Amino acid sequence: MSEPVADRQASLNAGSTASLRPATAPRDDPEDACTWFGRTWPRLSAGTTTPSVLVPVLVLVLRLFFGHRQDMRVVPRHLQRLVRSVALCQVVLAVLAIGACTTGAKSESSSPNEGAVCPVPDQLVGTGETGVSDLPATMDDLHQAQLLIRGARLIDGSGGDPVVGVDLLIDARGTIAAIEASGTIDIPAGAEVIDVGGRSVLPGLIDAHTHLLSEPAGSYPELVVRTRHEGEADRALRGAANAWATLRAGFTTVRNVGGTLADRALRDAIIGGRLPGPRMLIANFAIGITGGHCDLSNSINPEKLSHDPDFREGIADGPDGVRRAVRYQIKQGADLIKVCATGGVLSQGDGVGAPQLTPEELRAIVDEANRAERKVAAHAHGNQGIRDAVEAGVHSIEHGSVLDRPTVAQMRRRGVFLVPTTYVGRVVEEAANRGLLSPDSAEKAKAIAPKMRESFQLAYKSGVKIANGSDAGVFPHGDNARELAEMVALGMTPKDAILAATSRAAELLGLADIGQLAVGFRGDLIVVDGDPLQDISVLEAPMLVVKDGRVYVREL
Ligand SMILES: [Zn+2]
Repeated sequence: MSEPVADRQASLNAGSTASLRPATAPRDDPEDACTWFGRTWPRLSAGTTTPSVLVPVLVLVLRLFFGHRQDMRVVPRHLQRLVRSVALCQVVLAVLAIGACTTGAKSESSSPNEGAVCPVPDQLVGTGETGVSDLPATMDDLHQAQLLIRGARLIDGSGGDPVVGVDLLIDARGTIAAIEASGTIDIPAGAEVIDVGGRSVLPGLIDAHTHLLSEPAGSYPELVVRTRHEGEADRALRGAANAWATLRAGFTTVRNVGGTLADRALRDAIIGGRLPGPRMLIANFAIGITGGHCDLSNSINPEKLSHDPDFREGIADGPDGVRRAVRYQIKQGADLIKVCATGGVLSQGDGVGAPQLTPEELRAIVDEANRAERKVAAHAHGNQGIRDAVEAGVHSIEHGSVLDRPTVAQMRRRGVFLVPTTYVGRVVEEAANRGLLSPDSAEKAKAIAPKMRESFQLAYKSGVKIANGSDAGVFPHGDNARELAEMVALGMTPKDAILAATSRAAELLGLADIGQLAVGFRGDLIVVDGDPLQDISVLEAPMLVVKDGRVYVREL
């Protein structure tokens, strides 16, 4: 079931740069004129040419000259016939012009606008590939220049050795058009040239586990109170700030796994060019059981709640109930489905390792998501919950804190990704040690963090596919790359950490044109000082961040 998902999401990505052409034909466009009696006449408006005005002018002159209508009899017959013929021709021309306007002339053109008699703004035409990408482009997008990155040490995200002395050309649509030895690409007129002086150039980084609408809370009750007080507008605005912090940190794509319906507003504002931020795949509300990890009303007196959360907020029970919850998140624009297969650390009253969704419910969720060509990401700490989720057919295990050899073997066999979130494990463990968590959460954090590190090492050594995911939102956005340093500290090679944040993560997301720097891929890249293959932490301070060929950060 992964192929249709990959295709759908790849087209979503490609559609994100739609409408880069001018919205209307320029005024001096030769198409904006017509030839009549061997001369080129300016077109006054669609379907109306200068000769159109000649008939009434001619009639007016004749009337002025000959006075009253009865005097028209003195007009020579051949001149009267000429006037009538010209008038008839004009009627025929007008009908033809209206027909051309209605059907769109020159339908063989590559663009729906090219050569059309009546120019239509491209925003109204769209790409036909996806609904969400048809949003209006900004003026900046309309005037995006080509970009030449000169003198790169290229780490292309494929796992190959770095190549020095490379130039990359990104075209005006944000696609990589050429990668050649330095100085050999003809620089197109008007292209912006950035000489990176031999620094390392990598694909824009990918974080497969974020919560852009969330920020760290001092405690679980504080998180719940904030959640209950805020509206979707508050969350969307916070998400806008966090999206910029994430992009500035070099992450050009994220998978937002568990938020609210404001996810869609944020994703679409970024696609539409109204906000700077990473390309987002969204899950909307995570799906879980009543009283489970995803139920933010746990331990709150129901008298204080306006309502118990239901399928609209991802809380559902039984196979039919969870199917309805999946359908609702997809109806509201979800690109993937996130489930809570087990308890969690920061939620109250649930064992961190306890299975929550039943195998039957998990199978129903995966089936429903696959029908809609969506992947499923499963939050899972305990071993039984992980196994249930893997057997149900989820595409990734998030956290995966308690893995054993049989489970790891099963994940490898089925191609299930692990998104280990090792850095947040350490953050929460330190918060517990400093007395910042509730006694319940502190106990769970201290118990689970060492197991999470061991499980990551077991999975990595066993060859399970690993995608980078930070859980940013539990810690400040912008610190996303610390996950890479943590994985390297636990034994992963810097090269594999880079793969986890580039081509491997792109594979999990099902986006076929990001995660590598190669011709035809999106123009997403970062430039860092130093060699990330020697010191992975240099990725925490990118000097240049480019997404879809547009420069967002330039500090060199
Ligand atoms: Zn999370």
